[in-house]
Amino acid sequence: HSKKKGRNCYSYFDHSMQSDLLNKNSLINDLKVALDRQQFELHYQPIVNLDNNTISKAEALIRWKHPARGFVSPERFIPLAEEIGLINDIGEWVFLEAIIETVEVVKNNKNFQMSINTSPLQYRKNGMNISSWFNQLHAYGLTGRNLVLEITEGVLMETSASVRKNLHQLKDLNIEVAIDDFGTGYSSLSYLKKFDIDYLKIDKSFIQNLTEESDDIALVEAIIMMAHKLGCKVIAEGIETETQKRILADAGCDYGQGYYFSKPVNATQFHKLLESWNSKEEQLSRDTKTLP
Ligand code: C2E
Ligand code: MG
Ligand code: MG
Ligand code: MG
Repeated sequence: HSKKKGRNCYSYFDHSMQSDLLNKNSLINDLKVALDRQQFELHYQPIVNLDNNTISKAEALIRWKHPARGFVSPERFIPLAEEIGLINDIGEWVFLEAIIETVEVVKNNKNFQMSINTSPLQYRKNGMNISSWFNQLHAYGLTGRNLVLEITEGVLMETSASVRKNLHQLKDLNIEVAIDDFGTGYSSLSYLKKFDIDYLKIDKSFIQNLTEESDDIALVEAIIMMAHKLGCKVIAEGIETETQKRILADAGCDYGQGYYFSKPVNATQFHKLLESWNSKEEQLSRDTKTLP
């Protein structure tokens, strides 16, 4: 009985910082076995072409289904994986899982592109091996064109030889590169040209405030114009409303992604979504063809 009281006593005096640390350490321990225990899953969010309303790309987003905690956000566990040196293994798993899914999608859509998130650490020495990824793409009957790698602006600021070599190698193999969360980091435009970046993804914080009266319209218009001048296509992330979609389409934004179109969904739901989307599209084009 006294033992139990002691334990309660301990937790009563438990400092919140101490419990954060305990929580973090236990999360790290669980993370170390998550790959082996197959607790990761990829979800897919369609990227919609704003010109013709077709789905030509999707972003793969990792999910960790923890046996006790439920889904843990990647915003929480990806930084931990980077900290403990697990991000390369996770990155390899994401790549393979994403291309296996891509094989399914390209059966009906040859030009489909899967976009995956990569950590800056994967571009460093002992990170991913791009020739090996390219060989795997080919072994699965895919080409470099079927893959887009999302990186954050910080990667482009790194001057190490291996980072630069990796970025140039991607271009040589026709693998496209997207700058994720554009506008939240250094936002120096010079490197867009220097590294031949294909897509710029405007961060959702700029999209969320996009209403008719918002100053963000001017900002987003300027980003789109500059990106186009530098030969980049633009993807807006976090589109939640019809108004946001219309403002972006009017501003010449090439692609959109967000809950307005679809939340990220698992592979089964993603196939259903593609099927119903395509029949809706066919319906639409049939309808317009019957017009005079
Ligand atoms: P991100 O790459 O910028 O991904 C976009 C995030 O916005 C995703 O959060 C997505 O679910 C969310 N999102 C999409 N549409 C909307 C919308 O309309 N409204 C709002 N409020 N949110 C929307 P998620 O899946 O929690 O991922 C968070 C971040 O974790 C990602 O941000 C990315 O940086 C990282 N991440 C996810 N998967 C991976 C991965 O496989 N590898 C690495 N290295 N990082 C990943
Ligand atoms: Mg992303
Ligand atoms: Mg993003
Ligand atoms: Mg983001």
